[in-house]
Amino acid sequence: MSLGTLDKTGTMNKVDLKTLISVAADTIAAHAEELTSLDQAIGDGDHGLNMKRGFEAVRAEADTFATKPLPDALKAIGTKLVMTVGGASGPLFGTLFMALGKEISAEPDRANLTAAFGKAIEAVAARGKSQVGQKTMLDVLQPVHDALLQGKTGPEITDAADSAAAATVPMKALRGRASFLGDRSIGHMDAGARSTALLVRAVTEIIEGQA
Ligand code: ADP
Ligand code: MG
Repeated sequence: MSLGTLDKTGTMNKVDLKTLISVAADTIAAHAEELTSLDQAIGDGDHGLNMKRGFEAVRAEADTFATKPLPDALKAIGTKLVMTVGGASGPLFGTLFMALGKEISAEPDRANLTAAFGKAIEAVAARGKSQVGQKTMLDVLQPVHDALLQGKTGPEITDAADSAAAATVPMKALRGRASFLGDRSIGHMDAGARSTALLVRAVTEIIEGQA
């Protein structure tokens, strides 16, 4: 399996799917309490546990996933996330990975990765009946896609993801449980935006060979 590096040169790096899964699962596990407290502030406090359960389930089957071609591996990971994460975010993260698997080629270059990621975001928005600006994971996914389109480097992409997650703090939630709070959702970072930024960092650093 290989992915294009996220720098502007378009050089191909070999990326090991098992390493990607393990770093993503480690990142989620290391930040589970933080995700839980973010979700406690404006939701029901289960996001950290939901994500940890899902990514540990993916980790447990990493050997099997790694034998598959990239599109099939991503679809299988998405299906596993739907079955194990739960909550509102499970079907949405699951849709993201399944749609990515549907659109990506077995050995994607940056252009294919970017296009597939764009389609996957559209699938999440359709599944969540949501759009950018509503204080959800989409508020990180979309700026990351923009950064990919603009030819940004890996560190610029992770910065864009972190800034986008921070930018959800002053937003009013219009989707998900946090929307029940109305104006009281203002002043807190969206948990799903934070977990998305963490995953973007993990994946980008691995693809760039920095981890
Ligand atoms: P639940 O809200 O069911 O407890 P989680 O706590 O696991 O599920 O996930 C909450 C996160 O899911 C939110 O922080 C938000 O980013 C994301 N989310 C919820 N609803 C939507 C939606 N309709 N569209 C996009 N993202 C959503
Ligand atoms: Mg929750």
